[in-house]
This record gives sequence, C-alpha cells and structure tokens, in this order.
Amino acid sequence: MVKADILIVGGGPAGLAAAIATRRRGFNVTVVDGIVPPADKACGEGLMPDALLALSKLGVSISASDSFPFRGIRFLDRGTSVDASFPTACGRGVRRTTLHRMMIEQAEAVGVRLRWGTKVDLSAARSGWIIGADGENSLVRKWAGLDLSVRDRRRFGFRRHYRIAPWTDCMELYWGRTCQVYVTPITPDSVCVAAISRDSQFRLDDALKECPDLEQRLKSSAIISAERGAVTSSRWFKAVYRERVALVGDASGSVDAITGEGLCLAFRQATALAEAIECGDLDMYQRRHRQIARRPDLMARLLIALGEHAQFRRAAMSTMAAHPGIFTKMLAVHVGAFYETNHFHRSDGDHVATWTGDGPRTEPGPDARRVHAE
Ligand SMILES: Cc1cc2nc3c(=O)[nH]c(=O)nc-3n(C[C@H](O)[C@H](O)[C@H](O)COP(=O)(O)OP(=O)(O)OC[C@H]3O[C@@H](n4cnc5c(N)ncnc54)[C@H](O)[C@@H]3O)c2cc1C
Repeated sequence: MVKADILIVGGGPAGLAAAIATRRRGFNVTVVDGIVPPADKACGEGLMPDALLALSKLGVSISASDSFPFRGIRFLDRGTSVDASFPTACGRGVRRTTLHRMMIEQAEAVGVRLRWGTKVDLSAARSGWIIGADGENSLVRKWAGLDLSVRDRRRFGFRRHYRIAPWTDCMELYWGRTCQVYVTPITPDSVCVAAISRDSQFRLDDALKECPDLEQRLKSSAIISAERGAVTSSRWFKAVYRERVALVGDASGSVDAITGEGLCLAFRQATALAEAIECGDLDMYQRRHRQIARRPDLMARLLIALGEHAQFRRAAMSTMAAHPGIFTKMLAVHVGAFYETNHFHRSDGDHVATWTGDGPRTEPGPDARRVHAE
C-alpha cells in the first residue's frame, strides 16, 4: 500500500537519509533540491563509527575503495600529541561528492523520486508531509515558523584537499592559538584539511601558520581542490516540527563541526523521523531529536572549551598522556559506545556495532597512547 506523500526540501545527506528511511516504510517520497549533483560542501569528510552504523541501517555501506579508514583521533598541540582508538570499529574519510553519489544510488534503488535543479514553491505544496532538509539557512524552517532558536553560536570552517599519502591512521586535530585544524585521510593519496575559527576572515593558510608542523608537512603537496567555506553552528531550536512539517539535519539545529558528528546526527534523526511519521506521533520525533543531539552537544562544548583555553587544554593533554584510559573513554562516549565498552545496556539500543570494516584495523586500544613529544 502506498502511504501519504512526503515532500522533502533539500537533497543533501539529511534529505536523502530521510527519503530513504521514509520510502522504506512505504511512503511516496519526492526530494527537490536547487542544485544538480554531485553536491560538494565544506566538510571535514570524516565519518565516525556511529555515523557509519547509522548509514548502514539506511542500507548505505561505504566500501574500502570509496574511502579511507582511521582507527581513532589524535590531538596535537605544540609538538605534543595523544591519541586513542575507537572502541569497536574504525571511522572513514569519504569525499562529500562520493557520499552524495552513494546516497543518491540508494534513494533511487528504493524508489524515491529525485527532482534536481528545482526550486520548490512551498505555498503551492499539497503534500501530506513536508520535511525541511534544506540546511543551515533553512527556508522551510522560516516558512513553518520554527525559526526560534534557544542557542546559536557560530564559527567559520574552511576546507581544502591535498595530494599526499595519509601519514596517519587517525583523524588528527591540531590545536592552533585561535583555531583548530583537522586532517582526515580520504584516499590512499589524498587528505582533507579543514580549519575552524571564530573569525570569518580567517582562511586555511592563516590556520596552517598556527600549526607549523602541519604546514611543513603539506608544504610540497599539491592542493587539489578549491578552498570552500561554510558556517558551522551550535544551534538548538525550540521545536523541530509543526503540524505536518518537520525539520531534519542542519535545518533542525546543529553541533559545531569540531565534533565530526554532523552527518551522524542527520542520519540518526532521519531514521527517528521516519518512525515518528509512521506512528503519526511527531512529539516522539521531538523527544528523540533532543536525545540524539545531547551527547554531541556536550562533546562540542568540551572541545570548544579546550580550544579556547590553552592552559586547560595543556593540562587536559598532560592528564590524558599520564592516564591514557581517559582519552579512550572520552572517545567511546563521543561515538556513543561507552556503555557497550563498559558492559552496560543502553535503552535506545543505538550503539556502535562490532567491527565490520575492511581497512587496516588496529586492535581497540584499552588505552590512549602518548605518541611522541617532538
Ligand atoms: C567546515 C565543516 C566541517 C565539517 N566536518 C564534518 C565532519 O568531518 N563530519 C561530519 O559528520 N560532519 C561535518 N560537518 C557537518 C556536516 O557537513 C553537516 O552537518 C551536513 O552537511 C548536514 O547535512 P544537511 O543535509 O542537513 O545539509 P546540507 O549538506 O547543507 O544540504 C542541504 C541541501 O539543501 C539544498 N537546499 C537548500 N535550500 C534549498 C531550497 N530552498 N530548495 C531546495 N533545496 C535547497 C542544498 O542545495 C543542499 O543540497 C562539517 C561542517 C563544516 C561547516
């Protein structure tokens, strides 16, 4: 039986995830987007293990040939570094255009109608449900009167790709004086470098000057993509639905890019929204949405505080180096696997799966390790 129509405005990761999730529940789904694929966007392009799990639940598996694995996260500050492995599975660096292509293929395979290069006229929309997945500056959010934010802190992110073999088996986060720079391995011969700061005029070259080790390493590597920028916000809205209009992904609020959790949030929200629409209970989505955002929001606050207070950060890094288990636990919390690694059961059952990756895996370290002090 074909259920009600759903019109999804925005065919980015959140819109496509919502389309796949609702279509698989039997709804008649159309996605409209103003652009024509493949869609590129300023992004660190790291998918954490929890994002990969959420994506696989939508039937999208990222293959080894389309991505590059990383076993954990490394912090680097003024020649000192600490790292930790994810507890159960690796993360993957995936080019945004590749992720978009794979999600489009799955949407088409399950029978979603895709209308690219199309501007939607919301006043004429006669759909049963409208989902706003139109990103940070969502028009659907404004149109539905859902634009009331309870918190809104903005920063600015820029990214560029370099032709260089990944030198690291981690996603690396460099702490600069006024910015953070992170490096994600994307392919066997390229990395994505993203910088985030509070200054809209700040560019990647400025950021690299604050991270001389990284600047030196990239000096002779070819830049293979144009620099792209975007706003990244920590944003909560009072409500994420009104009557038969609901928001998903960045349109519904976001966490700072430093968490690397934006895509995971979008995928998990999409599944929660599809369940709620099927039950006809959007209050359920509102509650789940808050619950899903809580952990990344907490981590975003912690990471931003580390970025803004150098003394606090250095003390934290020394402590993590002296007591390596702390970073490992922090990372487990970050990817939602803390309960699993500590043999507790979570009520939502939505934790990280056991290892299914096909890239080189380092055994989940019980401890974070101090790598080197150069
Ligand atoms: C610098 C930076 C680094 C980041 N790094 C990471 C990372 O490493 N890992 C991670 O998980 N997340 C990261 N993020 C966050 C992640 O990029 C976002 O959370 C994610 O893109 C949200 O997806 P979305 O589909 O909600 O929005 P978008 O990706 O913005 O997609 C919105 C879509 O809506 C379309 N649209 C907009 N308006 C209309 C309209 N009126 N009509 C029709 N279509 C419309 C757009 O064309 C677009 O295709 C980063 C973000 C930034 C800024």
